[in-house]
Order: sequence, then C-alpha cells, then structure tokens
Amino acid sequence: MAETMKLQVVTPDKEFFNGDVTMVELNTADGEMGIYPQHIPLTVAVEPGVLRIHESSEVRKAALLSGFIQVMPEKMTILAEACEWPEEIDGARANEARIRAERRLTEHSPETDLARAEAALQRALVRLSLSEGNK
Ligand code: ATP
Repeated sequence: MAETMKLQVVTPDKEFFNGDVTMVELNTADGEMGIYPQHIPLTVAVEPGVLRIHESSEVRKAALLSGFIQVMPEKMTILAEACEWPEEIDGARANEARIRAERRLTEHSPETDLARAEAALQRALVRLSLSEGNK
C-alpha cells in the first residue's frame, strides 16, 4: 500500500477535509506542486487552481481559491479562504464574476484595480472549470 500523510483543509466556516492521502496537487505561488508524504517542511501561499486529493482508491477534485499551505513530513495543512467541491459551486455566480472581471480588465478605467480584477477572473475560471455543467 502506498505511504500516506494526513491532510487537513480548513476554511473560515468549517473543516473542509480531514483524512489520509497519498499525494496532493495544487497551484501555489511557487507554481504547480505535487506533495508526497515525507516532503521537507514548507510554507507557501496558494494560487487559485484545482486541488487534487489522491486517496488510495480515488482522486477528489476541489476548487481552491486562496490561502496558505504548511507541509510537514507526515502532515499537510491548508488554511483556505475558500475551497469548494464541484457540487457546491454555483456556476451562474461564477460566470457573473467572470463577466464582471473581464469587463473591468477591458475597460481599463482609472478606478479599476487591475490585479484585483485579474485575481477575480482566475477564481471564476477555476470554479467554472469544475462546476457541474462543465464536466
Ligand atoms: P463573487 O464575486 O461571486 O463573490 P469571489 O471570487 O469574489 O466571487 P470569494 O471571495 O472567492 O468570491 O469567496 C467568498 C465566499 O463565497 C466563499 O465562502 C466562497 O466559497 C463563496 N463563493 C464565491 N463564489 C462562489 C460560487 N460561484 N459558488 C459557490 N460558492 C462561492
């Protein structure tokens, strides 16, 4: 049997996931990462992307939008500002967020915070890639 580590994913309102995993894939400030058990200690910021949780018999996907990860050899913790299973994603809301962000990015008005609009667009695109109607 493959070696496992503990994964805990906590959001502001709940414990999103707690279990034994064989590997975790996610997008971070240092790029796409695949974290296996016995990884060296690491702390890094999350970038919006698909979180892939590899358990012994299946891979579960979730939208991970922002937060921090802490890796220890036998345990990985994700403190997420927002994390959603595909069935929890409101596709219409994400599509509205995408349209809003794209409009802000093309209009280029002086009041627009471009980095904020770009980040909102990335969150919306990740949600849309996982939402029910889009698989
Ligand atoms: P919006 O502009 O629609 O609020 P956002 O990207 O600014 O989107 P976040 O700040 O990432 O939203 O998330 C705020 C809260 O709303 C979190 O609890 C998140 O899980 C939830 N949320 C945001 N968008 C969606 C969605 N499309 N479906 C389900 N939950 C969502």
